[in-house]
Amino acid sequence: MSKKRVLITGAAGFLGSHLCDRFIKEGFHVIGMDNLITGDLRNIEHLFPLEDFEFYHHDVTKFIHVPGELHYILHFASPASPIDYLKIPIQTLKVGSLGTHNCLGLARSKNARILVASTSEVYGDPQVHPQTEEYWGNVNPVGPRGVYDEAKRFQEAITMAYHTFHGLETRIVRIFNTYGPRMRLNDGRALPAFIGQALRGEDLTVFGDGSQTRSFCYVDDLIEGIYRLLMSDYAKPVNIGNPVEISLKDFAEEVLKLTGSSVKLVYKPLPVDDPKQRQPDITKAKQILGWEPKVSRAEGLKKTYEYFKSLPKEELVKLPK
Ligand code: NAD
Repeated sequence: MSKKRVLITGAAGFLGSHLCDRFIKEGFHVIGMDNLITGDLRNIEHLFPLEDFEFYHHDVTKFIHVPGELHYILHFASPASPIDYLKIPIQTLKVGSLGTHNCLGLARSKNARILVASTSEVYGDPQVHPQTEEYWGNVNPVGPRGVYDEAKRFQEAITMAYHTFHGLETRIVRIFNTYGPRMRLNDGRALPAFIGQALRGEDLTVFGDGSQTRSFCYVDDLIEGIYRLLMSDYAKPVNIGNPVEISLKDFAEEVLKLTGSSVKLVYKPLPVDDPKQRQPDITKAKQILGWEPKVSRAEGLKKTYEYFKSLPKEELVKLPK
């Protein structure tokens, strides 16, 4: 029997590359697509020799042509960290809107099932805690983060419209902060920023008073949740994330302990519209997918730290642009 074929957009990025690995492992023929705007081919170069892996260097906001059959599409292309989407705001809006539209059109023409990567950012600075999928969010459309948050909200709306009006098989995953190997040290997110600073012997920068909380999910747990959602028959959004919450100050302390660094924490003003609390309610994921995170923060942090330590020394000195 011929292998099932899956298209993964954003394949050279952090999550996309882990998805490629997972689908190869599951015996799929994987077609990766990326324009490399924030991704890195090194994340998938180990797959290039495989017969069951193909790569298209392509911008998904332009018409997408993939020859042959497609059974599944996972649309993960999008800048994902504030440092990226504040630098390329229009591309961020385009990949969430035009890019998603192109992927949905492709899914329809191939009769494929599509899963789109949404985000906890659709909840904005939430007034409900923890966030359930029924909460509609508190987003400032014209604030600096609006370009990302609203692109993702549009993405969910158009995906649901294709489901309702065209009967397309769609899945929507709302991903909460995820970490692990292949994150970029200089992408501005808290964990790589802290580890990068510790490795360079610099003080760790905490924004605000550090009391704002986040919940960090290890990448292997997330990928398992996404795989289960894709294979489920549930079309409404599902939160996938780790509900164990920690303040950024405590998190910075954990990184200091892990790295054995003797630097201190320094405090800087909180960026505009920075959410104060973030914690997924994963009741749905548990009930519908039988999923919950398995990797503890201690274990996940250790693996991520090992990855960053293994990078060439010149990577460590690159600071956020
Ligand atoms: P990433 O920046 O590492 O990967 C995104 C990839 O998409 C990059 O390789 C980039 O080059 C590619 N890309 C961007 N625009 C493109 C375009 N127009 N055409 C083709 N490729 C394009 O980010 P990530 O952390 O892997 O995030 C992947 C997806 O998951 C994104 O959609 C993001 O919004 C979503 N997400 C991630 C997190 C997280 O914690 N990492 C949380 C919520 C949602």
